[in-house]
Amino acid sequence: MKLVPEVAALVPEMKAWRHHIHAHPETAFEETATGAFVADKLRSFGLEVHTGLARTGVVGVLRCGSGNDTIGLRADLDALHIHEKSGVTHASTIAGKMHACGHDGHTAMLLGAAAALARRKDFSGTVYFIFQPAEENEGGGRVMVEEGLFEKFPMRAVYGMHNWPLNPLGTFAVRPGPFMGAFDIFEIVATGKGAHAAMPNTGKDPMLFVAHAISALQTIVARNLHPLAAGVVSITQVHGGDTWNVIPQEVVLRGTVRSFDSVVQDLIEQRMRTIVAGIAAMFEMTATVRYERRYPATVNAAAETKHAIAAATAVVGAANVDTDPTPNMGSEDFAFMLQAKPGCYVWLGAGRGPDTPNVHNPHYDFNDDALPIGASYWVTLAKQQLPPN
Ligand SMILES: [Zn+2]
Ligand SMILES: [Zn+2]
Repeated sequence: MKLVPEVAALVPEMKAWRHHIHAHPETAFEETATGAFVADKLRSFGLEVHTGLARTGVVGVLRCGSGNDTIGLRADLDALHIHEKSGVTHASTIAGKMHACGHDGHTAMLLGAAAALARRKDFSGTVYFIFQPAEENEGGGRVMVEEGLFEKFPMRAVYGMHNWPLNPLGTFAVRPGPFMGAFDIFEIVATGKGAHAAMPNTGKDPMLFVAHAISALQTIVARNLHPLAAGVVSITQVHGGDTWNVIPQEVVLRGTVRSFDSVVQDLIEQRMRTIVAGIAAMFEMTATVRYERRYPATVNAAAETKHAIAAATAVVGAANVDTDPTPNMGSEDFAFMLQAKPGCYVWLGAGRGPDTPNVHNPHYDFNDDALPIGASYWVTLAKQQLPPN
């Protein structure tokens, strides 16, 4: 392990920042105190600070030397609607909200990198430190891009990082191409004809639609996708019926679809519509499909992935950088930035052993021992990518 010395010296501060943010979680687009905290810190390091992009987003600008080259490093600010059960001393002070995805750690690591780079000023060019709101569900990364992130702050490439408790501390994992899945949601409403449950012949039972639809929708992945293509169809909600002796009028199904490429995404949506219409026709009722594409797949660019591997290797050694990990069907709104700019997203190993709670678990807490590793990666990446001052 080769930690950047300036970063290693900042560990107590990074921990304190992380614990402060953890104790005061704010969810999507409400990260006003977190954003102000970040802006204050960046100003204290001597950075130029821009606020208000995507409401609560913050961009810090560090220019050194006379170089024209630029890169962007991105962290996320938001917490989740989860009631924390970690029992740590810095646990959430806000009921029902929790930093259960480690964005507190991401923010602290990027602040640490900004402080370290500002202290040494030994590169020539510009580094943009991007702190985005609303990574969870609401697409703050998309809003930042739409509000002109890359026009206001022109950069050659953009880099992201997520802590990964499933991988051991002191490792990185990254690969070129699709790395995280596209995230779609759907809602199917089947409308039959309500009836007395003892006289089913007088109604059109939407429960029967549900029984067939749940099975038939699984045939999309099993029978329509190329065997080597990847897709997930998960029905996660069934809502219908109120009592024992009534056939309801309507039943609602909801769920999510995951994929790595738009051809698969198109196929799943089209087959879903066909199957739903066919089953509805079979049982003489109507059914509607609302299909919404939320986040695209996170696709790493080839050249930037090589740069990310070089930086990770310099910090943890080649043996600890997995360059062929199995992609994950979780999704990530850094995908919107990667659609607009070449870049790379890496997983920072943060596991403490097989029982480490994963992200989005109420017992999860970001692993502080990962702070200097992630911040060293950022500093190393910036110094490898920009010429010395
Ligand atoms: Zn998350
Ligand atoms: Zn996350």
